[in-house]
Order: sequence, then structure tokens, then C-alpha cells
Amino acid sequence: MRGIIGGNWKMHGDPEGTFGFMETMESRPSSVARADVVIFPPFTLIPLAASAAPEGVEIGGQDLFWAMEGAYTGEVSARMLLDAGAGWFLAGHSERRHVFGENDDLVRRKLEAGLTGGLRGILCVGETLGEREAGGTEKVVRRQVESGLRGLAATPDVLVIAYEPVWAIGTGLNATPDEADRVHSLIRGWVKELFDMEFASAVRIQYGGSVKPSNSAEILSMPSVDGALVGGASLEAGSFLGILDTVP
Ligand code: PEP
Repeated sequence: MRGIIGGNWKMHGDPEGTFGFMETMESRPSSVARADVVIFPPFTLIPLAASAAPEGVEIGGQDLFWAMEGAYTGEVSARMLLDAGAGWFLAGHSERRHVFGENDDLVRRKLEAGLTGGLRGILCVGETLGEREAGGTEKVVRRQVESGLRGLAATPDVLVIAYEPVWAIGTGLNATPDEADRVHSLIRGWVKELFDMEFASAVRIQYGGSVKPSNSAEILSMPSVDGALVGGASLEAGSFLGILDTVP
């Protein structure tokens, strides 16, 4: 299965840095070609990123709202992301769930709206440290997967799942490759129950949580890991390319 590496810039970046990042990506076509590559800049940088991105680098929105337009001050819709040059979006990133209080229902509405609006989506799931320490990883991740996907009109080419243990995001900690692989296999099993075997074998499941060039080879070599969603190490083109170079 072809890997997919995402770079989530969160609330970082400026026009000059975006242009420089894309120039460096353009200078390394063989690294970029190792996987599908999607960069998620802040909304304001999407048009510039989309126009500067070289072949093989796609752009996504870090979030969207479920309505297509209306009196929703501060929000951005799927159609607006498309107009700006994005082809992808994230739904349910842990910072949206835990800093901004998004619950499973809202994440589901956003996922549906983005797919209906013609974008491809990455559904992010993952347990907090407290949930993990209480032995709740499976229960929490299963609930998030089922709530996001049950009855969803989607095909595996427009949907990716990112398993991102919340305690591993931006902390320098990460799940061991075996632990990540175990949870990915569970997710694939739940996806099979929700759809079918064909869907479950084709859907890509990324790992996210402090992935960097020094640990990506081991994580990406695991059988159930189909890529990575990268935060901090995607802010600098050199380290992001370093991760791409380890895609098997
Ligand atoms: C993320 O933002 O999805 C993420 C995984 O961040 P980091 O790589 O910095 O842990």
C-alpha cells in the first residue's frame, strides 16, 4: 500500500517560510515521490502553499466547519478550503478535541461535511494519558472510530485514519512501534466490521505522535502502519524530508 505522510503545521508559519519549504521540497523530487504528501498549513497560508507546492505535494485544512456557509463567525467550510486550493482536511485532531472541546458528534459532522464537499479527510483518533493508564485505550479509540465511521458514505481513497495517542503529541514521547502496530490492527478490525474486508485492507492508517527522522524508519516499517501524521518535525523541510526518506 502506498504510504501517506502528513505535515500538520498547527498555528505556525509565515509566507516566506512557506515558500522556502516548498522550494526545498521541489529540490528533492525523489524523496517526495516516496509517499503521498499532504501539508496542513494554517488557513491563511493555504493559497500560497497550494500555488508554491511542487508536484506530489498536496495541501489540506487543519479543520473545517460542517455547514457550507452561513452565520458562523470564524469558521471555514469545505467549499472554502477547496476554493483556497486545499484537497484534504483533518477531523478530530487531538488539539481540536481537547483544547477546543470538540466531541465525537461534532467530529463526525465535520468528517461528513468535508467528504460530501469533495475533500479527502483524515480522521484523527487517540487516547489521553489518563485513559491509557486506566486501561481504556481500546475502548476510547474504538468509540472514536465507530462514531466517526459508522454508516459513513466513503471509500478508502478519500479517507485516512490517524492514530495519535494524545500523550505522544508534541511531547517527545511515542508509542513503541509494536504498540502502534497493535492499535492499528485493532482499528483495521473495527473498520472491517463497519464496512468490509476490502475496505479495511485498503484504508490507510497513519501513526502520529513525535515522529521524527530518528524514529520514523522503525515506526513506518510496521505492517499495519501506512504512514505518519507529523507535527513539530514538519515545520522544517529538512526534517520532514528526512522522514520521507525513511518511507519503506
Ligand atoms: C500532530 O500534530 O498531529 C502531531 C503528531 O504532532 P507532533 O509530531 O509534534 O507530536
